[in-house]
Amino acid sequence: MAKRKSMSSKMASRKKPAPKLETTFCCPFCNHPGGVSCSIDLKLFVASAVCYVCEEAYHTTAHHLTEPVDIYHDWIDACEKANEDVDDVDGHKRQRRVGSDDDDDSDA
Ligand SMILES: [Zn+2]
Repeated sequence: MAKRKSMSSKMASRKKPAPKLETTFCCPFCNHPGGVSCSIDLKLFVASAVCYVCEEAYHTTAHHLTEPVDIYHDWIDACEKANEDVDDVDGHKRQRRVGSDDDDDSDA
């Protein structure tokens, strides 16, 4: 009896129901948890992450080692970069406006 029990429990722990990787993530745009789902097409080497809530999407190249979480992190990186660019442009504009009052004038 005891043997049987240990055997079945061993089998149960061994037989995992298919390794389920995290494929849904919190959307960087609408912050909806689980709103983003990732898919990988190894035939076209394209990976996409799409938010079904706000329909934002991100596409990147994929290879056989690409995992959904990689796509998601790529997307987050791209978002941060985009945000930095926006901040940069904004800062330049502000600096110009402020500078045009004193320093920029001497140039003209
Ligand atoms: Zn979203």
